[in-house]
Amino acid sequence: MQKEQIEILQALGAKGEAFGPLWDTLFESALLIHGHVCGGMPLGFRAGLAALKALDVERELNMAKLVVVETGSGHAAGCFADGVQLSTGCTFGKGLIRRAEYGKWALNLIERGSRKAVRVSVRPGVMEASFNSPFVKMRHQGIPPTQVPLDISRPLVEGLIAKPEEELFTISEPFEYPLPESPVTSFNLIFCASCGEAVAENKARLVDGKPMCIPCSGSGS
Ligand SMILES: [Zn+2]
Ligand SMILES: [Zn+2]
Repeated sequence: MQKEQIEILQALGAKGEAFGPLWDTLFESALLIHGHVCGGMPLGFRAGLAALKALDVERELNMAKLVVVETGSGHAAGCFADGVQLSTGCTFGKGLIRRAEYGKWALNLIERGSRKAVRVSVRPGVMEASFNSPFVKMRHQGIPPTQVPLDISRPLVEGLIAKPEEELFTISEPFEYPLPESPVTSFNLIFCASCGEAVAENKARLVDGKPMCIPCSGSGS
């Protein structure tokens, strides 16, 4: 990553102050982590923010909330899910984001304890405008996001920052989400009898009485 790319992302990140105190810092981090200027990530970032507000909760720092994002994979604007992770704090590493393969630009933010949830979806007209934008047309021609000229990508983001939430999203009333019981978190390690690597205890498999990691056990799951 070039210094000038970082500076471009930082300058754009400063505009996140429109989301409220300290959100410029988070928006800047989101841009740096995501790595390029596009419409999908900022749209997801704002959708996550709208969900936090609708559920009247803070960004997740621990493990109390969960997101089910409906974007799936294999299409344009998958970047949406990165924005959702970064604004809600429900990240992949914390195990707090699940992907439903619906190919839809929506997320469900769920409080794990109460199962209280809200769903935020991008309005169809916003998606239509986004898919008709010069940015997506260039992406369709195979041009990587970092090579789309900034005078095309930057106004896209600035427009998404400036628009009122209700123009961008449909936000549900709180509802009860049918969340299955969470698996118990393991704090114990075992060492695979075959490869010797460390394995979380609850993922180890017994083969002829010996603990093994899933790949060595040959069980495939
Ligand atoms: Zn992107
Ligand atoms: Zn192993």
